[in-house]
Amino acid sequence: MVSTVDLRSDTVTLPTAAMRAAMQAAPLGDDVFGGDPSVNALQEKIAAMLGFEAALFLPTGTQSNLCAILSHCQRGDEYLVGQMAHCYRWEGGGAAVFGSVQPQPLNHQADGTLALADIEAAIKPDDAHFARSRLLTLENTLGGKLLPFEYVQQATQLAKSKGLGRHLDGARLFNAAVAQAALTGSDGRPAAGLKGGERGGITFEARRIAQCFDSVSVCFSKGLGAPVGSALCGSREFIARAHRIRKMAGGGMRQAGMLAAAASHALDHHIERLAQDHVLAKRLADGLAGIEDLQVEAPQTNILFVDLTGAAKERSAALLKHLADEGIQATGLYRLRFVTHLDVDAEGVDRAVAAIRQFFKV
Ligand SMILES: *Cc1c(COP(=O)(O)O)cnc(C)c1O
Repeated sequence: MVSTVDLRSDTVTLPTAAMRAAMQAAPLGDDVFGGDPSVNALQEKIAAMLGFEAALFLPTGTQSNLCAILSHCQRGDEYLVGQMAHCYRWEGGGAAVFGSVQPQPLNHQADGTLALADIEAAIKPDDAHFARSRLLTLENTLGGKLLPFEYVQQATQLAKSKGLGRHLDGARLFNAAVAQAALTGSDGRPAAGLKGGERGGITFEARRIAQCFDSVSVCFSKGLGAPVGSALCGSREFIARAHRIRKMAGGGMRQAGMLAAAASHALDHHIERLAQDHVLAKRLADGLAGIEDLQVEAPQTNILFVDLTGAAKERSAALLKHLADEGIQATGLYRLRFVTHLDVDAEGVDRAVAAIRQFFKV
């Protein structure tokens, strides 16, 4: 049996031996009593890293976004959000179901941004006809795209000037920071001393993005390679509200320090290596260049989209079967998504390229 190259998502990674050892060694307590030292340490670490007063560890990014929206908004409020944003499209309508908070979805521009004019036009005046516009949520990266930093500044400034709160779904904030550091660094690569706080360093860029917002959610279970968990960061007062909502959502966990230790290990050891995932996504894109009827989007981070057009579109089902037979896993039908991560290497990417080239006989 050939081994599988799983490019469906960066959520599929398994904890490394070192991560498992960190989990095993974690001091534990009951976090519902506030007594799990590993959870407390993780919360302090991520809050300090991103420049916030406090943070809350949650089982999923979905629950983190839900707690954020419900902490910013009351019943009858609305949040402005992208059509393709996770916290609008992919979370079961939770903010509306559990919080009676209405989404105001906006179309994306080609680069993933929401046009400033669209944001401004969607903010409702104080009038009994309208829901109260209360919050702007952005996502970075969005579908693997880095939002331009100047845009993030402008959009969040606009929201602030109109009295809206600002929430970032930064499930892949560190992928964004790596890509932004590569743009900012003098030689087109993340600056040396990446853990350092200097401009062009990854944590510096992560904090620069995060500080445009009142609250930020980050996932440990994506590219960072932890098995479970997200963190929500904000002011002490905001996190106290989110803590109450997490309890209502059933997200209070007991000896969660085993999971927090995995996340903490990921922050210490798996941030800089995200750059390798970005290199591999580019390697995959380069390998697929020039195949007729395959439109390969240049990846900015670890997610690659390939559109099947023309004759290739008609052969989509056959291609997917061929890939499955070759042990290559991806998602999509006419728009295939390939995601690189901790458990994929150059050899795996080259196998995916070879399988696709073999199918198209090129
Ligand atoms: C994965 C993801 C989440 C949260 O996902 P969970 O599966 O609930 O942890 C939120 N936002 C974005 C952008 C994501 O990619």
